[in-house]
Amino acid sequence: MTTDPVPAAEPGPATAPVPAAGPVVRYERNGPVATVTMNRPEYRNAQNSRMTYALDDAFGEAAADDGVKVIVLAGAGEHFSSGHDIGTPERDAHRPFARRAGLWWDHSDKAGAEQRFARESEVYLGMCRRWRELPKPLIARVQGACVAGGLMLAWVCDLIVASEDAFFADPVVRMGIPGVEYFAHPWVMPPRVAKEFLYTGDRMSARRAHEIGMVNHVVPRGELVDRTTALAERVARMPRLGLALAKRAVNQAEDLQGLHAGLDAAFGLHHLAHAHNAETASDPLGGMDVRAMKDA
Ligand code: ZN
Repeated sequence: MTTDPVPAAEPGPATAPVPAAGPVVRYERNGPVATVTMNRPEYRNAQNSRMTYALDDAFGEAAADDGVKVIVLAGAGEHFSSGHDIGTPERDAHRPFARRAGLWWDHSDKAGAEQRFARESEVYLGMCRRWRELPKPLIARVQGACVAGGLMLAWVCDLIVASEDAFFADPVVRMGIPGVEYFAHPWVMPPRVAKEFLYTGDRMSARRAHEIGMVNHVVPRGELVDRTTALAERVARMPRLGLALAKRAVNQAEDLQGLHAGLDAAFGLHHLAHAHNAETASDPLGGMDVRAMKDA
């Protein structure tokens, strides 16, 4: 394990060319398999609100298309996702957006905890719950970094296929915050492993993630696309309703094991930490910007 998590969304140097404008999420369908690809590789697929709603559009399209049986969630480039966008030029956390995950009011003209709670209830916890309930199997195809907010995207998927170079980390305890907003840690890994994962912020290798049951398969990087597609196509041979009901049965079991209530409880602690930071430090991230996280 190393102690240098990939920082979320580092802006490029001032001289870097402006990346070509393109969709932040790509959607492709090949037979019964839809592939939804996060497409901000220049920022390690850091998730801004624009990407969040583009993901939601893509999942909505896949859910509505009777020809789609299985959905693969992927990240373009070297990394699956470096987490939430805390520092790219297209960071849009303070802009308004049309809410879809719940009926919280517009955060953008509010202040303090009201602003943060409304926003994160929608774009982080709410959206993750919404996607977890998508009634078709969702498979994460993970390479490189899957860090902080990136974990949330992988964890809402039903299956995870990782390449040998993939790694997982939640370093936000460095910000004084007890983990990312979708606090599934003690459900996707044993509690003692979850504590070490949080206490150290260290990277967990794909092999270790497989050993503890957090990912389904670890494959060579060069085989990641083909192996994930093969698994998706195999799952796609099952009947649609059978898959939807099996997914729901397992999700319900996780909720009976406390996942739903646990997420709400941890979300409250998460916002206590944001509020503490806002009161005592320079900002709700405890002064830990992209550079500081990289240096830590
Ligand atoms: Zn937060």
